[in-house]
Amino acid sequence: MTIRTRIAPSPTGDPHVGTAYIALFNLAFARQHGGEFILRIEDTDQQRSTPESEQMILDSLRWLGLSWSEGPDVGGPHGPYRQSERKGMYREYAERLVEAGHAFICYRTAAELDQLREERKEAGLHTALKASDLELPADEVAKRQAAGAPYVIRMRVPEQGICVIEDMLRGPIELDWAQVDCQILLKSDGMPTYHLANVVDDHLMQITHVIRGEEWLPSAPKHKLLYEYFGWQMPTLCHMPLLRNPDKTKLSKRKNPTSINFYKRMGYLPEALLNYLGRMGWSMPDEREKFSLAEMIEHFDIQRVSLGGPIFDLEKLSWLNGVWLRELSPEDFAARYLQWGLNAAYLTPAIEHVQPRVSTFSDVVPLAGHLLSGLIEVQPEAFVHKKLSQDDVRRILQFAAWQLDTQRYWDKDSLFNCLSGLAKALGFKVGEFFFPLFIAIAGTSSTFSVVDAMAILGADLSRARVRHALNVMGGTSKKEAKAWEKEFKALQES
Ligand code: GLU
Repeated sequence: MTIRTRIAPSPTGDPHVGTAYIALFNLAFARQHGGEFILRIEDTDQQRSTPESEQMILDSLRWLGLSWSEGPDVGGPHGPYRQSERKGMYREYAERLVEAGHAFICYRTAAELDQLREERKEAGLHTALKASDLELPADEVAKRQAAGAPYVIRMRVPEQGICVIEDMLRGPIELDWAQVDCQILLKSDGMPTYHLANVVDDHLMQITHVIRGEEWLPSAPKHKLLYEYFGWQMPTLCHMPLLRNPDKTKLSKRKNPTSINFYKRMGYLPEALLNYLGRMGWSMPDEREKFSLAEMIEHFDIQRVSLGGPIFDLEKLSWLNGVWLRELSPEDFAARYLQWGLNAAYLTPAIEHVQPRVSTFSDVVPLAGHLLSGLIEVQPEAFVHKKLSQDDVRRILQFAAWQLDTQRYWDKDSLFNCLSGLAKALGFKVGEFFFPLFIAIAGTSSTFSVVDAMAILGADLSRARVRHALNVMGGTSKKEAKAWEKEFKALQES
């Protein structure tokens, strides 16, 4: 048997370090066994999936040095590797389960579902809905069908009892069927849900080992049951511990930058970031801290993964990156530095802003050095402005930070429009509103346009700088943040 593993990202946002971490362990496991590692795009959520996000995920995994033998960009014998392109197949599988009595057509409306959950709650039962709650009498089904009402296909699940999941790292785990609902398999728009598409594709793509984040463990009983219903052999499951912030909470972008783009723009070496991810819950048999991907594969043993939540700590990552940088030869250091920051692809968009403003090359760094920096080290005094109080500054930075978090398009016009719109809505003159942003992004207001700078720096580093500036200004109190957030939401809706 050839070992086959996969990474199956959903392209709904920035390329997450957690995706790279899981991809790395899948790749190491497959390669160590002489097997194959593949990439599949799970874009069944058509509302949230974007081609830009998919491209960023592929680019950033490649930048890290991870590669796959089959995928949407490289093809392969089990394609297509993008679920939206496989859409037509899933219905047949869902219908097969309906015919066998393992799934049923459900015409319940959203209001009815709420009501049913409420009734279960009142009866002291878990709110997971069962077929006995959901199924309508035959004549009512016929009536809704005749009226062309929308429907979904749901799987049947046991009302109660224990489901035992075998996990490579955790041994047998017992999960309670009472907490598992009759999962929707096919949505009313004909798209499969994650659960159906994931099981069907893992089977058709001959995946032997599913190594994924621990957040998917509660879904495992549904998947196990689906494999049984279809009469297919289930891959071996392995749920990896989740990455955590230093305060032990689940890694989140509010506390730690989570996008791989951030680490790239900050000037981390891809091999160092990969090395650090390899140390998340895992260590080399000789405990050495610095190792390459090839060394990790050579010594890989999944049983060495420890389940205590690994902490993703920027300071430790920076230390490790420093070790990698110091071991480069001066020639390599120069080459890698040029490749990172002083390359034409990155700097060309800045030239049109820099060229009209300089008389010598030596004027460039004072004007545009912020494009080659990480966070900007500023003091509160830098934000002093005759028209703005300290509270105004904090308010502007906080609202701008939220606005940038929700910003989908990162070109200068979109950025200018959304930020100037926000300025007006908050009652600031546009020029005044942009002042604290200049300081946050460039450290000075005497440079070229801040939205141009943000477009070049990218979303992640720009957001991090605005948040950093807000912290320099003392942040926001809990009470304030709550009131402001309410105000921000109201502005967004209006
Ligand atoms: N599409 C899921 C995700 O984004 C895949 C989960 C799995 O590996 O089964 O994480």
